Amino acid sequence: MIKSYLTESPAKTKELGKTLAKNILKKKKGKKAAVFGLEGDLGGGKTTFLQGFALGLSIKDKILSPTFVIMKKYEIPKSKEYKNFYHFDCYRAKDEKEISVLGVEKIISNPGNIVAIEWAEKIKDILPKNSFWIKFKFVGQKTRKIIF
Ligand code: ADP
Ligand code: MG
Repeated sequence: MIKSYLTESPAKTKELGKTLAKNILKKKKGKKAAVFGLEGDLGGGKTTFLQGFALGLSIKDKILSPTFVIMKKYEIPKSKEYKNFYHFDCYRAKDEKEISVLGVEKIISNPGNIVAIEWAEKIKDILPKNSFWIKFKFVGQKTRKIIF
């Protein structure tokens, strides 16, 4: 089922991310990592959304746009099911190989991981079929469309 939201501020986008993360923690985990592919416009709010998502996972570190770092790992406190949150940003990645060498296959096969990938469309072929996709569209100065 497709759900689409219009957010009118960064705070509202963060709120959506936070709600999603809290729901993930409540669900029973699968046999592999929970993988979220974020795609869409530059400035569409992917990183902003993940800042709220991390808050929902009770992660205290500030999530930054990893301009030079492609991957960052955070510990998830308080959850028995999930141990680590991985944030990938494939914006600068040339191809799947560049991401592959970071050990992404191993990371996404570990059921204790939650993995969020910005510009995931670039590495679609190495992501699990059951990944959860979220699309971001730049609508206006303060408005973004977020489609689940
Ligand atoms: P992306 O990671 O998709 O490139 P970012 O989250 O880094 O996007 O940037 C989004 C930018 O747009 C931020 O500067 C943010 O403050 C601004 N912004 C304005 N309105 C919104 C909104 N409704 N949702 C998310 N970000 C917004
Ligand atoms: Mg970003």
